[in-house]
Amino acid sequence: MSKVYFAPARARHWDYSASQVAGLERLIEKMDFGSAIAEGEYVAIKTHFGSEGAHRIVRPVFLRKIVEGVKAVGGKPFVCDTVRIQGWDYLEVANQNGINPQSVGCPVILADGLFGCDSIEVKAGPVLGSVRVASAIHDAPAMIVVSHCKGHIEAGYGGAIKNLAMGGAAGRHRSGDWQQARGHLHAAGAESSVVRDAELCIMCLQCLHVCPTEAISEADGGLVVDSEKCWRCGRCERVCPEGAIRLQKRGRDEFQMALAEGAKAVLSTFQPGKVLFFNFVLEVQPECDCMPMADTPLVQDRGILASRDIVAVEQAALDLINKAVPLPDSLAEDRGLRVGQRILAEALGVDGQLHVDAAARIGLGSQKYELIEL
Ligand code: SF4
Ligand code: SF4
Repeated sequence: MSKVYFAPARARHWDYSASQVAGLERLIEKMDFGSAIAEGEYVAIKTHFGSEGAHRIVRPVFLRKIVEGVKAVGGKPFVCDTVRIQGWDYLEVANQNGINPQSVGCPVILADGLFGCDSIEVKAGPVLGSVRVASAIHDAPAMIVVSHCKGHIEAGYGGAIKNLAMGGAAGRHRSGDWQQARGHLHAAGAESSVVRDAELCIMCLQCLHVCPTEAISEADGGLVVDSEKCWRCGRCERVCPEGAIRLQKRGRDEFQMALAEGAKAVLSTFQPGKVLFFNFVLEVQPECDCMPMADTPLVQDRGILASRDIVAVEQAALDLINKAVPLPDSLAEDRGLRVGQRILAEALGVDGQLHVDAAARIGLGSQKYELIEL
């Protein structure tokens, strides 16, 4: 049974010690950073920078506390994510969302470089074969995985596993081959491409505006998709209001397995005991932080979890969400959800439990945990 420490969100008395920030400090102390980080070691603090319009990320105040914890034991922290849109623009998104060296107290970088193609190929499982791990994560001797727990249209749930599988892989490959980069997790096979149904398309151009690679353009009164430029990120499909544009993707079960394999490949670049996990079960919105908006949360803030076991911390986060009361004026209410239902799975129609189960099956950790409230 793995230990998962928990700092609840409720602040029941008027004192700093009751704050969520103080709760995080207690978690940091309990996680004993010195046991995972040696003097002078570089430490990747892997988080998600969010998106223009998606502001419900792990706030800079929390990142700063983790940075301070790393520095306190002599580590050299850097906060990082990987390229989702063009690198320069993504750093600007981070800045807009309040993540910069001044706010967090250390360098803020793109782990796969400004152009998203600095990566090292790492062996993965039978679904993926291999993954191109972002070089700054690959080369870092230690890592703290700081994840915002929320829904995800394709994965059903996005926490630490998705943060590593998707976010630890490079955005693109120098050759332009999408199968050598993150798109490889979404789509399988050389025939995978984006297809548009002209009958359904209302030419709202949302897909064109959200595409990070300018692969979609207007032509002859319609749209064309440049298959060479396309990263297979799936953003166009997610924003299309008419279901008129689709990325030919992996099957659902295969994708869930791909997430587990991807996370395992990233973790395989670290020695045992060198990676710690913090799951922020706050502002649990239905969608990924890479979307151009953030809906209201499905459940009330639960708090922050910390563990050395990625599966245990993910299972604890899902359990906290599933036991919570669905909030009014949210997608949970729109779906008529009630207490006791599996909120993310029912709200999104995709069961994120599947990739947590898959991660346990391939030996990433234990689904049995002891929740220790601090
Ligand atoms: S999947 Fe869609 S949004 Fe993503 S790069 Fe390809 S065309 Fe652009
Ligand atoms: S988002 Fe959908 S409906 Fe709008 S232009 Fe693109 S394919 Fe057409």
